[in-house]
Amino acid sequence: MADESVTVLLVEDNPSDARLVREMLVDVGAAQFELVHVEQLSDALESLAQESFDVVLLDLSLPDTHGMDTLVQMYTAYPGTPVVVLTGMSDVDLAVKALQEGAQDYLVKSRVDGNSLLRSIRYAVERKRAEEERSSLLAREAAARTEAEAAHQRVLDILESINDAFVALNHQWRFTYVNREAEKILRRSWAELIDKCIWEVFPEALGSKTYREFHRAVTEQVTVESQEFILQASLWLEIRAYPAPGGLSVYLRDITERKRAEQFREEYIHNVSHDLRAPLTIIRGHANMIQRSANNVDRVCKSAEAIVTSVERMNAMIQDLVDSARLEASQLWPDIRAVSLAAFVSELLERVAGLMDSGRVKVHIRQDLPPVGADPNLLERILMNLLTNALKYSSPETEVLVRAKATGNEVVVSVADRGVGIAAEDMARIFERFYRTRGAREAEGLGLGLFIAKMLVEAQAGRIWGESEPGKGSAFSFTIPIAKPNVSQQQGH
Ligand code: ADP
Repeated sequence: MADESVTVLLVEDNPSDARLVREMLVDVGAAQFELVHVEQLSDALESLAQESFDVVLLDLSLPDTHGMDTLVQMYTAYPGTPVVVLTGMSDVDLAVKALQEGAQDYLVKSRVDGNSLLRSIRYAVERKRAEEERSSLLAREAAARTEAEAAHQRVLDILESINDAFVALNHQWRFTYVNREAEKILRRSWAELIDKCIWEVFPEALGSKTYREFHRAVTEQVTVESQEFILQASLWLEIRAYPAPGGLSVYLRDITERKRAEQFREEYIHNVSHDLRAPLTIIRGHANMIQRSANNVDRVCKSAEAIVTSVERMNAMIQDLVDSARLEASQLWPDIRAVSLAAFVSELLERVAGLMDSGRVKVHIRQDLPPVGADPNLLERILMNLLTNALKYSSPETEVLVRAKATGNEVVVSVADRGVGIAAEDMARIFERFYRTRGAREAEGLGLGLFIAKMLVEAQAGRIWGESEPGKGSAFSFTIPIAKPNVSQQQGH
């Protein structure tokens, strides 16, 4: 402090007292004082409004105020100002009151000398600085705390908002943090987990792969990853654990869907390759037969026929696979035209007479049925799928009936057979990809026909459904919108 200048506001109406103070301060000369002298309280308050002083030397008897009032007014206007009361009155009560009110010191003019005045000023200044430092420290501390809390909250917000489940475990394997997603995946509430040991909450996990990996993460301080099937929840979890100073940070992700898709793909490849191999086996058998019976024309012809049929079957299956892949990739742009169903169906049946037993198919479609808006190619594939099934799953002596009738602004087309029928539980899933009824397992086909038909119907703004009575027969129906007047007519097919 000795080297710094100290600003002092002297509030003193008595000129000789003021001079005395000034002289005392000059005499002690230990510090450089910048002294501003005013004679009444109103002037003092004005000065304080303009600049801040390190200390105020305040006489309590001033022309505009007297006694404790002087101090009270000063503090009311400028709370926290360091004030040293300098007065002619030696009054102990007043001194105590002044100090209680917040004055730094109370000096009686007649008894004060340069040194005691200096000490008092120094003390007041130091105290003010210490207080300022303390409050700025407190403010900095509070700001740092607020910032730390905000940062913590930001991290919590992130952890709560991410789709992954996140938990933190301490060195005793106790949960110290659990986010909302983790509560969902672990099927336990926050209260059931927090502060609890993971191996006590999930005793079934003791000794599991996850258990071993978690211990490895801690002992080797490495990140570990595992996939675990949780039997109780029939859930596949991907678990990733990172060593952290406080224990382990663990991310959990529900990968059940992905696992199901993988399983599905595996089954799918297995089924498809199995089904594609069946006609190949027949082809190989007949090719061998041809080799062995080169002289027997009849046999050779029969085997060649069987080979052609099997090749066609394989072809149809491969076509179904390609179609279903294309449909799933939405590569389907129907070319909608006005189609007269009666003509369309009879022309189709004539054309496929060599490929299927179309003689069994009876058509009941009125010639005056309004034309429908459909893509003729897609319509043909839908009808072919339904007709093939109807013929395949009914005995050769029964008929298959194709009907169409207009209702509202659409036409309902149905293909009915008197075949084996379909059980209700199968009917519920029959339009799913690769779904086949149990009895049909060994029959030809991949279980894609109805799936494809459904996609094709829907691409033309229609619906498809099946009805059946097991043992009596089945009927599959689909709707097609009646053609809008401006749609161009189908040009042959
Ligand atoms: P696929 O090409 O293997 O025949 P589909 O999707 O066309 O596959 O048919 C799925 C299953 O539905 C078939 O395996 C068959 O069991 C059953 N199904 C379809 N149509 C009929 C029908 N008209 N009568 C009896 N069962 C049928």
